[in-house]
Amino acid sequence: MKDYNLVDIILPLAIADVYTYRIPLANPSPLTSAALGTADIGKRVLVPLGKKSIIGIIYRPHEGTLPKHVKVRDVVQIIDQTPIVTAQQLHLWEWLSQYYMCTMGEVLAAALPSEIIDDNYAAAICQYISLPPTLLDHHAQEALLSSFGRAKKQEQLFRTFLDLAQGQWQVERRVLLESSGVSGAILRLLIDKGIFLEEEHPISRLRRYSGAIGSPHPLDTQQQNAANAIRQAWQDKNVVLLHGVTSSGKTEVYIHLIEEALQKGKQVLYLVPEIALTTQLTERLQAVFGSQLVVYHSRFSNAERVEIYNEVRGERGDEKSKVILGARSAIFLPFRDLGLIIVDEEHEPSYKQQDPAPRYHARSTAIMMAGWYGAKVLLGTATPSVESYHNATSGKYGLVEMKERFQGLQLPRITIVDLQRQYHRKEMYGHFSDPLVLRMREELSKGKQVILFQNRRGYAPFLQCSDCGSVPKCPNCDVSLTLHKAHHALVCHSCGHSIVAPQRCPSCQGEYRTHGFGTERLEEEISALFPHAHVARMDLDSTRRKDSHQRIIDSFSAHKVDILIGTQMVTKGLHFDDVSLVAVLQADMLLNKPDFRSCEHAFHMLEQVSGRAGRKGDKGEVIIQTFDPKNPVFDYLKKHDYLSLYEQQIAERQLFHFPPFYRLIIFTLKHRDEQRLNAAVTLLRERLEQTFGPRVSGIITPSVARVHNMHILQLRLTIEATANIHRAKSLVREHMAYVVQQSAAKGTIITPDIDPL
Ligand code: ADP
Ligand code: ZN
Repeated sequence: MKDYNLVDIILPLAIADVYTYRIPLANPSPLTSAALGTADIGKRVLVPLGKKSIIGIIYRPHEGTLPKHVKVRDVVQIIDQTPIVTAQQLHLWEWLSQYYMCTMGEVLAAALPSEIIDDNYAAAICQYISLPPTLLDHHAQEALLSSFGRAKKQEQLFRTFLDLAQGQWQVERRVLLESSGVSGAILRLLIDKGIFLEEEHPISRLRRYSGAIGSPHPLDTQQQNAANAIRQAWQDKNVVLLHGVTSSGKTEVYIHLIEEALQKGKQVLYLVPEIALTTQLTERLQAVFGSQLVVYHSRFSNAERVEIYNEVRGERGDEKSKVILGARSAIFLPFRDLGLIIVDEEHEPSYKQQDPAPRYHARSTAIMMAGWYGAKVLLGTATPSVESYHNATSGKYGLVEMKERFQGLQLPRITIVDLQRQYHRKEMYGHFSDPLVLRMREELSKGKQVILFQNRRGYAPFLQCSDCGSVPKCPNCDVSLTLHKAHHALVCHSCGHSIVAPQRCPSCQGEYRTHGFGTERLEEEISALFPHAHVARMDLDSTRRKDSHQRIIDSFSAHKVDILIGTQMVTKGLHFDDVSLVAVLQADMLLNKPDFRSCEHAFHMLEQVSGRAGRKGDKGEVIIQTFDPKNPVFDYLKKHDYLSLYEQQIAERQLFHFPPFYRLIIFTLKHRDEQRLNAAVTLLRERLEQTFGPRVSGIITPSVARVHNMHILQLRLTIEATANIHRAKSLVREHMAYVVQQSAAKGTIITPDIDPL
């Protein structure tokens, strides 16, 4: 008879998928049977690993027997009474690890808040002051009050307590001290005398909405038609793409569909790009869904994430946590009864996780999940990704359109300014062309607001010595250092390395000249051009503190700021009623990337930033400055003509073997030692070529070929969309494993990126 069961356990490690352990059945000494509990799938266990212990998740009973020489160790403890990971979550993890080619452990580490896996979550504690039973009576209280005599402070403290307690006989310690203005020492005195009792209770860290809730706005005709068409399309398709111009009222349509899902008792996952998770959106949803709404994003502390995780699991009753508004990582929450997933701004590249593994796309993942939960998916955007639009027009997804802005508001007028000509004629103030300055003057004098977009932070992307031509570079990366003037610093935007900005070139004492410009430079130029305007800057540097992003948005909303300068942070989902003019200072950086998606991405970004103009009342205006005014992307933009952009892009994709007709895998190889790296990449290329022939690219040197002292090279594998991708991936796995075992390539890190962006 067997006296143990073998189980496979997922540990938060990148090495193997599963680790097998024994769960003793009978006579489990020295363990108590209570410590072992029942070994259900999805519970946490403590297991020995080397000389340490580590927490993992029970994945499945181990199938088959293990080779004789393998010594399987015993599980130390089963931590949970009930599973904390659901069967559907495990299914998701399996899919992610197979599709994106990483280990289950890497998925686990991304999927669970680290305090769950370290088991060091502690509830927040709140201290309360209460009364002993003898003092609950009014007469006893009066008697006590008159006995204080000259101990005025004590009397004051007790009176404040009675005021605050309002018959509940319990007041938060902190509140009592603050309201009474009496010291903690006096409070201690009364506690020691037995007049007050001290109590501690665990409290939720989650701020619950307790304001008023109301019905959603009634939909206008266009919105009603869209909502009906979506419901209709869901009859026989799981996924619907809602293509609606900016400000057409998509969010309001979502709200109505969410309400319907809730009425059926379902949960709803509402995904937005991290940066679009503003209080503007949260407040709009809270006004309808009240405390049923939970928000989840990376700025929450680990402890807060644990509490949200438990709420979504339904630990504390069913009423709450029905609508989960979150950034991409919210797909990992333990949903019970998911009925609808909304992916807003579905075209956003930030839905793809870059590092570390799993390098998943939240949109693709959401669509897979919906299948397992029997849920419906709504993808919404003003500028669909080429992939989604292709799926919609080929009939795989439903397609619903909203072509008008809400209340017939007009889409902004777009003007292209030729920078070459402006510079030639000397009609520039710094980086501002004459027409732009003129229009800014006009709009500001009318009391309107302006947004300036430049997708680069800092003052200048590089310095160059005007004598010897040298450029300060990062010692660890192949990157020029960006000047941050306010901090007198040169900073590497790749690894963060920072040095004091030198006054002169250290080798020849020549003077430095700045090249290019970032948001910080614009801010300086603006103050010179418009000395009376209130200016704010929104970029990574100005939003490092916890609430600073929100504070900038609030002050711009309240019109305390006239001009908002920003990187792509200003392009996402914000509504400002008084913005009549939006300017893109230099579009060229968006257009000149060596990437098959650069035209699509430039269109997305320019159309999104344009959407911030003229959201109320008058028609807005967008001015785009560029050295390449003939670029076809501007023709599409001027007419807000997504369809032509799409047709041009999809033709190119087919011609040059890109998605959605082909799947891509990019292999990134890294090593400190260039020789080893070269050996590894050559070897991998040879192996892949044996299997995939001409589908393997030549060796690619990325635009930044060294980061953190690691040299980087890449290969690209292009596979027909119709091919058996599972088979291809398992061959790829074998080749990668082979290469890292060869001594010439030793120590090379190979990371595959599936469906790279
Ligand atoms: P989108 O999500 O397409 O950008 P929104 O849903 O945010 O558009 O709508 C744009 C603006 O119009 C918002 O300020 C919103 O409050 C308002 N709005 C949209 N639909 C309605 C409606 N049915 N009733 C009242 N206001 C609406
Ligand atoms: Zn660096």
